[in-house]
Amino acid sequence: MVLVSHSDPAPATRLREVPVPRQSPWRLASLLGDQHIEDVEARARRLQERIQARAVWNVNSTEKGGGVAEMLHSLLPYARGMGIDARWAVIHGTDEFFRITKRLHHALHGSTGDGSRLDTHARAIYDAVLRDNADDLLTAVRPGDIVVLHDPQTAGLIRPLKRHGAHVAWRCHIGTGRQGEPDLKKAWSFISRDLVEADVTIFSHPAYIPKCCDDGRSVVIRPSIDPFSPKNEDISPETARSILTQAGIVSGPPPEAPPTFTRLDGSPGRVDHFADITGLGPPPPWDAPLIVQVSRWDPLKDPIGVIEGFTEHLRRRDGEHARLVLAGPTVRSIPDDPESAETLDRVLETWRRLPHSVRARIQLACLPMADMEENAAIVNALQRHATIVVQKSIHEGFGLTVTEAMWKARPVIASAVGGIVDQIEDGVSGLLLADPSDPAAFANAVQRLMDDAELARSLGENAREVVRERYLPVRHLIQYADLFERLEL
Ligand code: UDP
Repeated sequence: MVLVSHSDPAPATRLREVPVPRQSPWRLASLLGDQHIEDVEARARRLQERIQARAVWNVNSTEKGGGVAEMLHSLLPYARGMGIDARWAVIHGTDEFFRITKRLHHALHGSTGDGSRLDTHARAIYDAVLRDNADDLLTAVRPGDIVVLHDPQTAGLIRPLKRHGAHVAWRCHIGTGRQGEPDLKKAWSFISRDLVEADVTIFSHPAYIPKCCDDGRSVVIRPSIDPFSPKNEDISPETARSILTQAGIVSGPPPEAPPTFTRLDGSPGRVDHFADITGLGPPPPWDAPLIVQVSRWDPLKDPIGVIEGFTEHLRRRDGEHARLVLAGPTVRSIPDDPESAETLDRVLETWRRLPHSVRARIQLACLPMADMEENAAIVNALQRHATIVVQKSIHEGFGLTVTEAMWKARPVIASAVGGIVDQIEDGVSGLLLADPSDPAAFANAVQRLMDDAELARSLGENAREVVRERYLPVRHLIQYADLFERLEL
């Protein structure tokens, strides 16, 4: 066995297994009703009878940062809680490998990224890294096990796993409906020879399914969030303020509650670390309206566009008290996202060039990543404290941050791109920006919500109900059960 466990001092050259705790689905009964939980447990028992001693592996490229890691942390414990032997392994890779896979990531959104060639040389590097990972993985995966591989970083594992006798699903969390985009075509031709070997392929939207997978093997499964995780648990406004004050993101009178949260295992947690903040003067007072975007530092999240839109908003409103907070992880903390430092540098450069009065109203916050549950608690507090949450992405397969903010009944302004169009109904459960590149449209939407508290409240309430109905883990697990029942086990 060459897998190393998460608690070992993990060498970056080995595939790592992330421990998956157990979580009872009954925790969700207060939101969904007892009948729903009884039904999903019955479903899990039926599945168990079929899969017997098979493990269900999930393989991706990072255990922290980004939507896939977030979703696996949230979902897999419920699967274990229902008696499924759900496991999680994280591949290792070289800088060159992750540069290529980030290029693929951009291309699968139809973007050019760094424009590097997806040629035979790139493919050789990609293959060599995944061959190493396959060597490790095949010592742990048994023939007959089910393996769900996530995103382009893992597609090269399909063939060795199939040859080994595993049942393989490949799940893509990225996508665009614009199948004709030249970069998208390049990405599909880079990995299509792998994808045709998968038993099933999973996409977040029907329009993302490429020709090579459009042969009855593809299904659509949308992500979900865990409403009880440190990222999403209910906390009081006082606790949110206390967490944000402790992290140095807002300032104000001594908070009336401690900066605490509940860890995934139910034990108490406390926010101790500061965010690394770039701003002018003290942090915003706790009672200033905050406009917040939380995202990895990625050009496709358009942080500079958010600054431009907010600047336009300030230009129109004399004496505006609102502040903008752009928050993301500390850079270089996410191994499979090599672009983050460069993107943050560009955002900092833009911020430095702003007029003093605008700069004083914008904070860039790198959130501590040493303890991911503490990081999640800060994100939770920030999203809950926000007057408006924005997600001005240029492309988005499915925006988990959008769902997170909707669950917190926040009014969300988001780009009408990719999966976000399914998540938000414009004017009902949030506001959509038809043209994400138009700062005036962004400023109009902010103004609309600032001036109409009733609209903001009703969008938030509707949004929370949408998440309760569609984006909780039970629906997600039932879809996986349906899928695994289709496999010839
Ligand atoms: N996130 C986080 N800490 C940060 C920044 C982002 O936990 O400092 C989380 C965010 O809350 C969300 C995920 O990272 O759960 C991002 O998922 P999304 O689908 O929005 O975008 P992706 O990063 O997958 O492109």
